[in-house]
Amino acid sequence: MNLYHHSYKLTQIVPLLKKTGFIPLLLQRLKIIKTIIHMSVITVGTMAFDAIETPFGKVDKIVGGSATYVAYAAGNFVKPVQQISIVGYDFPKEEMAELKARGVQTEGVEVVPDKKSFFWSGKYHLDMNTRDTLVTDLNVLADFNPIVPDSYQGAEFLMLGNLMPKLQMSVIDQLKTRPKLIVMDTMNFWMDIALDDLKAVMKKVDVLLVNDAEARQLSGEVSIVKAAHKILEMGPKFLIIKKGEHGALLFHENHVFFAPALPLEEVFDPTGAGDTFAGGFIGHLAKTKDISFENMKTAIIVGSAMASFCVEKFGPERLKEITKADIDERLSQFVQLVNFDIDLV
Ligand code: AMP
Repeated sequence: MNLYHHSYKLTQIVPLLKKTGFIPLLLQRLKIIKTIIHMSVITVGTMAFDAIETPFGKVDKIVGGSATYVAYAAGNFVKPVQQISIVGYDFPKEEMAELKARGVQTEGVEVVPDKKSFFWSGKYHLDMNTRDTLVTDLNVLADFNPIVPDSYQGAEFLMLGNLMPKLQMSVIDQLKTRPKLIVMDTMNFWMDIALDDLKAVMKKVDVLLVNDAEARQLSGEVSIVKAAHKILEMGPKFLIIKKGEHGALLFHENHVFFAPALPLEEVFDPTGAGDTFAGGFIGHLAKTKDISFENMKTAIIVGSAMASFCVEKFGPERLKEITKADIDERLSQFVQLVNFDIDLV
């Protein structure tokens, strides 16, 4: 029978292809391709200028912003990092170029030609675990209406960096497919002025990141453990409470895991440490595609390691210098730090 001289109906061809194993093979290949394509992380947050004062020095204007730190950290583990943010005319083109060179896509970063970028100023106390916000100038952020580019659709991981809760929600709503994991960071500023919006976003996320003071503020509980259980009832399945130089706690149902911070001789500037932690955390999860509690334990160690670099210099400077070898070495320092044997008596 000569194939070319017969016209076949689709109903005849499909069973034939199924029988020969062609269709299952094709579906398997498509699944592999889809997996590779969607190894991306969408990050949302501020790209900003900061003025920072620590006991060790002062800078009047340095690049910062939650999404900037997340991107620099996550870019070490996953590509592309698909950034959603807004900047003004003053945001340095070199910084954008630097981010792009590290696999950060900036199609979702709006540039407003006649307004200034978001500006934040903070002053650290002597112990560096606490700080006062001196200025928060929303500037471009005041009219921000984030648009998720079509090319970002289908991402499996979403990092909602610190930003107005309404805008975090808008990004979730625009995604046609719910990501495999949604992680949310926030801060006291939004708890003070947009608590209801923040609670609404919390219902839609898988992991929430806050520091200890914010956990207390959000829950009204003094005990961190009681605070954690109350927050877990508000929506997220996992909760990470950051405690600055005292490490971070991961809560899930009745499980708790603790990761220390690396004891560093000098902490120069803690700004962005929380966002860098978040970037390392989601970067590791996206790289390994494993969102189990067990793997989240490793992810918070990775986050802590990345944060330990961030604090060594002002702004995101140190994050731009480090190599994979530096990260690996620091991770092994963490292993040493917490590795011990015990004989039960
Ligand atoms: P972190 O030290 O991890 O809390 O992050 C500090 C960064 O967050 C700075 O670079 C600021 O530009 C940015 N930031 C400060 N306040 C806010 C805010 N209310 N919303 C979003 N980003 C902020």
